[in-house]
Amino acid sequence: MIRERIYTIPVNDAFAEDGECALCRMKRKLSDDLVTYFLGASLMEPDVRVSTNAKGFCREHAAALYNRRENRLGLALLLHTHALESATAAKEALAKAVPRGKGGFLKRTGIRENLLEAAGRIEARVSTCAMCERVEETMARYVDVVLWQYFEEKEFRTKLDTCKGFCLTHTADLLRGAAKHLDDGQAEYFAKVLARVTGDNFDRLAGELEGFTLLHDHRNRDKPAGASKDALPRMIRKLESDVDLD
Ligand SMILES: [Zn+2]
Ligand SMILES: [Zn+2]
Repeated sequence: MIRERIYTIPVNDAFAEDGECALCRMKRKLSDDLVTYFLGASLMEPDVRVSTNAKGFCREHAAALYNRRENRLGLALLLHTHALESATAAKEALAKAVPRGKGGFLKRTGIRENLLEAAGRIEARVSTCAMCERVEETMARYVDVVLWQYFEEKEFRTKLDTCKGFCLTHTADLLRGAAKHLDDGQAEYFAKVLARVTGDNFDRLAGELEGFTLLHDHRNRDKPAGASKDALPRMIRKLESDVDLD
């Protein structure tokens, strides 16, 4: 198990904060730090450039890099080389979609398969992201640390036992992590904990969301909103993980 402090500090910080999913909080902080990293000195590091040239960024992370409003020259340089590689790959994929037979005549057979193959090749390039790759690697370590600390540190165990649960995506990640890292007894114990924490907190939040709907009834006009006030965005994030909402 990995116990380095570079992983335990963000895990403990996230559990110290209040909210619907500690892993979402870790992921948000990590993504913010990575935006800083990719717009910083890493821009000039050859191994980083090899990765960003080949993979580029997904929609979410390209937007995060642009919207930071910092070092747009660096971002432009980085995307320029990535765009050249992407354009070359796209041109190759498109050229293969229209193969020429003997004498330069277009072959009609298999053209649909060729188009689908070219579409697949182009989509495969679009779906890669140098930042997502790092996020996934680090999040896997965080899950590992959560599980390790749960069974090693009493204080952390209490924190997880009494937390507000996790979003559905991270509940699944914790289950996968438990299956991978824990022994049978621990896995069974953790599954029970997760079932209780998830069940209790979905019930709580569903109650708060219902409270939100009741606030719209004019008879409840003067009642205090309490926890129901922001139950809708919290439920969206519980179901769909950390979504950016206005
Ligand atoms: Zn989450
Ligand atoms: Zn990404």
